[in-house]
Amino acid sequence: MSYNNRCPRCGEERLRTWDELSEDEQEIVKRLPGATEYTAAERTTHRWCTRCWFEATRSLTMSRRSLSD
Ligand SMILES: [Zn+2]
Repeated sequence: MSYNNRCPRCGEERLRTWDELSEDEQEIVKRLPGATEYTAAERTTHRWCTRCWFEATRSLTMSRRSLSD
């Protein structure tokens, strides 16, 4: 329930993993700035918003601060 899968930029409710992207969408993702910042292996842990193409990195999607509340 605390898992945050929402785009922080546009509010889209479902970010997609690499495997969830269509082939066309994967082609778009390959041209995003993140492609030069991260390795392909690293990017398999990322998620993307298919509305605004925000790229969520692992540290963002995996943050679970409330656990140590
Ligand atoms: Zn978005």
